Amino acid sequence: MEEMQGAAADLSGHREMRVSTFPTLYGERAAVRLFSRRTDLSRVADLGYAPETQSWLERALELTSGAVLITGPAGSGKTTSLYACLREIVAVSHGSRAVITMEDPIEVAVEGVAQAEVNEAAELTLSSGFRSLVRQDPEVMMIGEIRDSESARAAVAAALTGHLVLSSLHAGSVAEALRRLADMRVEEYMLRAGIAGVVNQRLVRRLCDCARAIAVSSAGAPELLGLPVAAGKAPRGCSACLGTGYAGRMLIAEHRCLRTHPIREDCPLPDEQSLPAQQESSAWAQASHTEFQTMLWRRGLAAVETGQTSPQELRRVLGWQGIQRN
Ligand SMILES: [Zn+2]
Repeated sequence: MEEMQGAAADLSGHREMRVSTFPTLYGERAAVRLFSRRTDLSRVADLGYAPETQSWLERALELTSGAVLITGPAGSGKTTSLYACLREIVAVSHGSRAVITMEDPIEVAVEGVAQAEVNEAAELTLSSGFRSLVRQDPEVMMIGEIRDSESARAAVAAALTGHLVLSSLHAGSVAEALRRLADMRVEEYMLRAGIAGVVNQRLVRRLCDCARAIAVSSAGAPELLGLPVAAGKAPRGCSACLGTGYAGRMLIAEHRCLRTHPIREDCPLPDEQSLPAQQESSAWAQASHTEFQTMLWRRGLAAVETGQTSPQELRRVLGWQGIQRN
């Protein structure tokens, strides 16, 4: 498999596209990832989080220690969210906080932030680079993505020693994020003390204005695909949406704070203190998992019920499991 950094690198050196090709039976399969230059997603308030999640995140970014993780599967907007967080910190602090990043690669240049990029040839890896960053004594550090034990432990250790650490993690739920960190040999006491909170998010396609209302009888409607909603809309397709039925995307997200700090009261969910003492981490993760499903699903269902997205789109993104819990 080849990966080439796009031909469209601009003067400031950051990429606009990433192309990956892979040989298959009938020829080369190509995937192109385009990095949007949209400037309307520049601050946390522009991302489209639910109000409670937005205000929690904005306050979490004022913390002087602890890690804030953005999780979700590939294509859930984690990178866009991280960059908005960086700009938020620079704007709110009027550039007075020292912010340094370690990325692989730098996708967007952010004014007021010292950004560094992984360089395997120079043996500058995410984790070795991150360890060097700590010695620069920054107040805020961003590590593009936690991928291995070394970067996980470095990030949480930094969060425990008076730094606000931002990072993303490929995980489908808050519980999975915690399990993955535990699998990466981050001890539970470090997780409990170091992780301030987790935002777990998805991107769903937004229905175009041409969408049609789904006819719902007293027995419901097959088109609602078993979702517990009273109404919904289905995609139709017009010239404006090029026949796709969708136009643009929207964010569905939940947040969960995991540590004692001043923003705890914004947390609508039971926290670890409500669990029996000495509970095993698996039980702790399981408890988070149940809460996660409810909150993310609830927001997704609201988006279906108000006709912002379709039942099939929500099912595509959140899957066919999890509904029965409600
Ligand atoms: Zn349309």
